[in-house]
Amino acid sequence: MRLEGKVCIITGAGSGIGRSAAELFAKEGAIVIACDVSEATYDHPNIHFYKLDVTDRSRIAEVVKEVVEKFGKIDVLVNNAGITRDALIQNMTEEDWDKVINVNLKGVFNMTQAVVPYMLEVGKGSIINTSSVVGVYGNIGQTNYAATKAGVIGMTKTWAKEFARKGAQIRVNAVAPGFIKTPMTEKVPEKILTAMAERAALKRLGEPIEVAYLYLFLASDESSYITGQVIGVDGGLVL
Ligand code: NAD
Repeated sequence: MRLEGKVCIITGAGSGIGRSAAELFAKEGAIVIACDVSEATYDHPNIHFYKLDVTDRSRIAEVVKEVVEKFGKIDVLVNNAGITRDALIQNMTEEDWDKVINVNLKGVFNMTQAVVPYMLEVGKGSIINTSSVVGVYGNIGQTNYAATKAGVIGMTKTWAKEFARKGAQIRVNAVAPGFIKTPMTEKVPEKILTAMAERAALKRLGEPIEVAYLYLFLASDESSYITGQVIGVDGGLVL
């Protein structure tokens, strides 16, 4: 029960890593506010689904208000929703660029801006932003995605400074997964996935639950002196 009684918002909780985290957090005693742009259902009674697009600021305001009214507080925000629209820069459309920036970068801004006033009010909270190894090292065909995931690191470090003060223990950290087996990577050609698995020191791809366990640690009070960090969970892909 590492998250007993904590109210945790997770975006992109309908599939992959976010879904795994929602289930793990609930098992650890959290009240989970599972947000996704697509409908999702869960078995656990403490997982509450909210249909929410992280680019829709008025819907975000509505959901955050409802959560605080219903559950009294927000302890944890996991900014996990993310998308890819891959193409070499020569072929990347403006629409591909705008869409990925809007969801992966501005979506994190939108959610955090709506939630942080409630955390500041009680002087406590943990925000977890999902970056990627691609945000640190780049990747062919992912100009837009790399820009967003690097941007997430910049926001993480800025907010770690901006939100924390004496009596306000608000921590902000980023997680940088390597290649994890989720619907997002199902689109990646098998040849590339095999090469990525081979390149990782552990010689395999990651499972969603292996990222969810890092989210759990950062959400829990076990990580109470950790803030402003970018923590890899990539099987030793980049060493
Ligand atoms: P996924 O596609 O399985 O899940 C992403 C979820 O986000 C989906 O349920 C989708 O409906 C939701 N979503 C998309 N747009 C949204 C929006 N506008 N508002 C709300 N929800 C939205 O992907 P995943 O692999 O589980 O990715 C989770 C996070 O991890 C993403 O931020 C991704 O960039 C990051 N990541 C994944 C990998 C990987 O290898 N899978 C590696 C590094 C980083």
